Amino acid sequence: MKKTFVTKAQIEAIVEKFPTPFHLYDEKGMRENARDIQEAFAWNPGYREYFAVKANSNPFLLKILKEQGFGADCSSMAELLIANELGFKGEEIMFSSNETPAEEFAYAAEIGAIINLDDFTHIEFLEGIVGQLPKTMSCRYNPGGTYAITNDIMDTPGDSKYGMTKAQLFEAYRIMKEKGVERFGIHSFLCSNTVTNDYYPMLARTLFELCVEIKETVGVKMDFINLSGGVGIAYKPEQTPNDIKIIGEGVRKAYEEILVPAGMGDVKLCTEMGRFVMGPYGCLVTKAIHEKHTYREYIGVDACASNLMRPAIYGAYHHITVAGKEDAPCDHMYDVVGSLCENCDKFAINRMLPEIEKGDYLIIHDTGAHGFSMGYNYNGRLHSAELLLKEDGDVQLIRRAQTIKDYFATFDCFDIIENLVK
Ligand SMILES: *Cc1c(COP(=O)(O)O)cnc(C)c1O
Repeated sequence: MKKTFVTKAQIEAIVEKFPTPFHLYDEKGMRENARDIQEAFAWNPGYREYFAVKANSNPFLLKILKEQGFGADCSSMAELLIANELGFKGEEIMFSSNETPAEEFAYAAEIGAIINLDDFTHIEFLEGIVGQLPKTMSCRYNPGGTYAITNDIMDTPGDSKYGMTKAQLFEAYRIMKEKGVERFGIHSFLCSNTVTNDYYPMLARTLFELCVEIKETVGVKMDFINLSGGVGIAYKPEQTPNDIKIIGEGVRKAYEEILVPAGMGDVKLCTEMGRFVMGPYGCLVTKAIHEKHTYREYIGVDACASNLMRPAIYGAYHHITVAGKEDAPCDHMYDVVGSLCENCDKFAINRMLPEIEKGDYLIIHDTGAHGFSMGYNYNGRLHSAELLLKEDGDVQLIRRAQTIKDYFATFDCFDIIENLVK
């Protein structure tokens, strides 16, 4: 059974100040998980997790992760600005972007972030912007074809837009070395939300062998190897969650078998996990406001796909708990739906749940990563608030809900609209 980190009594207390819907985050869970990650890779002295900021860019949460020793993986100007503002310094920021605008490369170089190039042609592009390439450079590798582990979120490597081919990669290191780059990294991201302890160890093996080959043929020895993101979480109750300790051990085994004998026992590892770091430590709390009995039984809630897009775009499963009915039998079948004029706006389809009454609070699990951050304003629906359940039990508003005024703020005719929404 999947457990929530918040009770009905706590929700009832919270809604007195902050109405639904809202995303709620669990500081205690975040910190414990962060410590487990650090421990799982502690055998590698240079290890660093660069949290993928796109998964959740709330500065209050990033600050907690920074305190736990994480860096920041950014892929846009806004993400770079947040990371820099929060005090992530130089190489504590990884810039893993693609189709990158020139000003973002310029800013990343200016603040000393590690630039991870998505494409061979970006060497010249970057040089044109910054003149001399930074002393540390990384490249993103795409082996093409299909990979042993795949799912719907990302295409197979051969069909995905990311990274360089093997030949381009070798040439990139050769050229960058000639141009005076001194420290090198490699990055690869082949599958997202992998619910198996084998993904990182397998990817590590692929990259470690490749790095030995690069050292032997190009004469470039990696300073760091970046396993990127992709470690998944058990969204469904029947799934077995990944065990980061086992994953860390699997990577260590590959490291000792491949890198150590090749004289590369000092290579640093990095990861850029987003989902695994934050996913389970957020939930979306929403209220049942309608029930509808037609060809199906519908529960209409006050959240919609603008607040959590994953079910609408990937058909992703998010577990739902009806607050206070944790132990009630799941003997009613519902579609739990939001208000968008899109039939994909369903948080659950044909889901067995306890009987839901209007006014019940529904806790939609695992929204800590790729939840709020993917939000959008379709249908004029607004972003919800974000709240933090702190270790001491207090609840802090860490982002207020968007207002109608915010929504209209980018129109030139704002004055008129201001009068309308008074
Ligand atoms: C999305 C992304 C991540 C994080 O992926 P998760 O599946 O959330 O772990 C890491 N690195 C890059 C470059 C990404 O685009």
